[in-house]
Amino acid sequence: MTQPLIIRVRNALAKVANPKTGRNIVADGRVQGLTADDDGKVRFALEVVGGGATDADALLAAAKKAAAAIDGVSAVSAVATAHSAGATAAPPSGHDNPLGVRKKPQIEQAAETMAGVKHVIAIASGKGGVGKSTVAANLAVALAAAGYKTGLLDADIYGPSLPTLFGLKDKATVRDDKIIPVEAHGVRAMSIGMLVDPDQALAWRGPMVMGALKQLMSDVDWGALDVMLVDTPPGTGDAHLSLIQSKRLTGAVIVSTPQEMALADVRRGVALFRKTETPILGVIENMAWLEMPDGERRYVFGKGGAARVAKELDAPFLGAIPLYPDLREASDAGAPLAAGNHPAVKTFAQIAAKIIASIPDL
Ligand code: ADP
Repeated sequence: MTQPLIIRVRNALAKVANPKTGRNIVADGRVQGLTADDDGKVRFALEVVGGGATDADALLAAAKKAAAAIDGVSAVSAVATAHSAGATAAPPSGHDNPLGVRKKPQIEQAAETMAGVKHVIAIASGKGGVGKSTVAANLAVALAAAGYKTGLLDADIYGPSLPTLFGLKDKATVRDDKIIPVEAHGVRAMSIGMLVDPDQALAWRGPMVMGALKQLMSDVDWGALDVMLVDTPPGTGDAHLSLIQSKRLTGAVIVSTPQEMALADVRRGVALFRKTETPILGVIENMAWLEMPDGERRYVFGKGGAARVAKELDAPFLGAIPLYPDLREASDAGAPLAAGNHPAVKTFAQIAAKIIASIPDL
C-alpha cells in the first residue's frame, strides 16, 4: 500500500540537506506546518536562519523541487520564514549600521514587487475580539463595490480568519512560482492561513513573522490594485513593524469598541504609527450599539468612546458600526454582510467613502 501523500512528501524533504549543518531539513526542524490536501496541494514553511539570501532561496527552491517531484503532488507553496537573521531583524530605521553601508531590508525588497498596488492600508486594533477582521473584510467588499480594485491580505498570523469570513474553501494555488490570490466578493484575497497551519504559526518568532509577511507581499501575484487592506494581528508587534518597514503603508485605520479597556490600546497603536510617521486615516467604532426591535439603541459597551478617543488623539472618526446580531452568523457562513442586502451595506459604504476621500489619489 502506498503511504499517505504527506508522509511521502516529508520523506522527500528529508532528503534535502541543510548545508549549514550537513543534516537534512526535516531532522533540523526547519520544515513546519507541512500539509497535503486530497487534491495534491502541498504547503509548508521552511525556517531559514543564517547564511545569505541566496543560500536561503536555493534551499527553498531545493525543498520545493523535492516536494513537487513526488507522485500525486499537484502544487507546492512554501514560505521561507527567515532568510538571514541580520537582514530580517534589521529595525525599520536601519540604525544598526554604524558603518553606513545601507543594506536593503528584505521586507523593503518584497514591497517593491507589489508595484501594481497603489495604496496599502493597515487595519489595526489594540486588542483582539473587537471585530477588526470582520470590519476589514466588509470594508474590502464595500471598496470593491464602490468600483475600486481591492485586495485583502489577512496577515493576522496568530488568528487568520479570512478563509472563514469569505467562505474560502480553496487553498492557495500556484502558477509560474507565484501564489494566485483567491477572488471572492469582488476582492482579491489572500490569507496567511491559506499557506501555513495557523497552529504552527502561533509559535513563530519575529523573523519568521516578517518572513511570512514578506512572502505574502512578494510571492503573491496581486496584479494591479487601487487599494489593499492588510488585516494585521491585534496589538503592535512584528507584523506592524514589517509593514512599516516596507514603506508601503499609505496609512492605518484603527478599529475599536467603545470600551475603555479597548481604548487604552488604541492610544498605544496610534502612538506606534505616529512615531513611524504612518498617517492615521481614522478610527472606526465597532459594536457601537444594539438596536432593539422598537428602534431604541442600547449602548452595550458604552457610548461614543472611540469617537471621543479619536478626537482626543486628533485622528479622524470614520464612523460607528452597530452590533448586528446576524453578523456573526453571516461571517461564519462566509457571506460578508456588506456583500448582501442588509443595512450593513450602507454603513460600510459610508466608512469606505470616508477612507477614499482621505486619500487624494485613490
Ligand atoms: P478581531 O479580528 O478583532 O479579533 P473578529 O473580526 O474576529 O475580531 O470578530 C470577533 C467576533 O465578533 C466575531 O464572532 C464577529 O462575527 C463578531 N463581530 C464583529 N463585529 C461585529 C458587529 N458589528 N456585530 C456583531 N458581531 C460582530
